[in-house]
Amino acid sequence: MKNKINWNFDNSYSRLSNVFKENIDPVSVKNPELVILNENLAESLELNFTKISKNELSSLFTGNSLPNGSNSIAQAYAGHQFGHFTMLGDGRAVLIGEHITSKNKRYDIQFKGSGKTSFSRNGDGRAALGPMLREYIMSEAIHHLNIPSTRSLAVAKTGENIIREKILMGAVLTRVASSHIRVGTFQYIAAREKIEDLSILLSYVIDRHYPQINNSKNKALQLLKVVMDKQIDLVIDWMRVGFIHGVMNTDNMSISGETIDYGPCAFMDTYDPKTVFSSIDKIGRYAYCNQPAIIKWNLSRFAECLISIIHKDQNQAVSMASEIINSFNKIYEEKWLNMMRHKLGIIEKDKKDKSLILDLLRWMHIKKVDYTNTFCHLMDEEKLKNEIYEDSDFLNWKKKWKKRVLSNGKNFKDCLKLMNSANPLVIPRNHKVEEAIEAAEQDNLEPTIQLLEILKKPYSSQKNTSAYQIPIISDKKYQTFCGT
Ligand code: AMP
Ligand code: MG
Repeated sequence: MKNKINWNFDNSYSRLSNVFKENIDPVSVKNPELVILNENLAESLELNFTKISKNELSSLFTGNSLPNGSNSIAQAYAGHQFGHFTMLGDGRAVLIGEHITSKNKRYDIQFKGSGKTSFSRNGDGRAALGPMLREYIMSEAIHHLNIPSTRSLAVAKTGENIIREKILMGAVLTRVASSHIRVGTFQYIAAREKIEDLSILLSYVIDRHYPQINNSKNKALQLLKVVMDKQIDLVIDWMRVGFIHGVMNTDNMSISGETIDYGPCAFMDTYDPKTVFSSIDKIGRYAYCNQPAIIKWNLSRFAECLISIIHKDQNQAVSMASEIINSFNKIYEEKWLNMMRHKLGIIEKDKKDKSLILDLLRWMHIKKVDYTNTFCHLMDEEKLKNEIYEDSDFLNWKKKWKKRVLSNGKNFKDCLKLMNSANPLVIPRNHKVEEAIEAAEQDNLEPTIQLLEILKKPYSSQKNTSAYQIPIISDKKYQTFCGT
């Protein structure tokens, strides 16, 4: 099968010692059936599945037959889940290998839902079709919004039932990531208090993700800084499009800066900074507006792992790491303001921009207005007409905004160009995602395919998208779930 598909594995993580992982194959399944294959992604990975029969693909994407060159492992990691430290690891996933493209780019190929491992604790190691399709849709949406993300190559049904609150169809998702190394990976190794292992992990991560740091005087400190910068950029992007990750535990925070672990995530419709969708997030720890603070909190946990290799003198190390973490707020604020300027088409900075931005957000919040569509309205008043935009407070604000964007002889066309790159016209609306998943569970993949097609070009005008743009707000709060 190898030559036909063009797999090119080099499994560097599985060459690390057994402290970092368990060698384990996926547990085979009864009746595999491919549901969806991401042909565009396959092409960009230089993989060719066109010469493979559907049966072989089904067998491949459930882990029933492993490709030549793969060497599957479950990775060890820990994590602060809702603030509580736990030893975790891949309890329902295996990394089958690292595929390398001709441009020397390395990608983890991981099966999620592939059966029990030594890290499964009380879990069954399995995943359900609905949530795996949900991850597929959401991760592809985030990727096409130009936000770093893990990708989804395939979903296949296992032909086995899994027991949750009700009986569900089992499925395996093939996830592609620039790596699955998390803040939690460092936490797992640091908790064992063997500085040699921590140094091995540090070198591995720097070689794989940030080779430029190899020249730096203090590599651990520099890694903290680089990961912080990546995470700030990531959360700014989430805030820009109204994405709520929903379960930003430290094990769900990737060292590479990709969005990872699409469980209870969802996009905000009505603008409310306190929006939470996750059924278990009772106190709103991971609410929309708390995301930057939680990223900072997670980075502080990351910094703690690195203390022993930042400096021999612990006090000195803490003060060096704190200096970096303490710079978070200022960097975030500056970048957030710039991001909001882009959403509003403001080309040059002015101190007064912040109050203009906050006035709009306040109005959206008070009037319960759709976040995405408000920016769409500013870009094109004719589309997505809604009487809320006749509101006098909004019209007054809009006058000020128009004056601001056109100040210093600016051309509205240039402002629009900036706005177009920052404001998606379509996002995966909650009702559309649910509709697609429900149909797929009844063997109808058409709504999923249509939704994915539209989500491929979120910044471009496409035909017949209004059904994908208008939110359906019901009295019942939209809820999402973890670990299903
Ligand atoms: P998550 O909420 O997906 O980030 O998962 C947190 C931890 O629980 C990870 O260690 C997962 O591997 C583990 N886990 C989640 N669901 C299962 C399951 N069904 N069986 C075994 N482990 C699981
Ligand atoms: Mg996770």
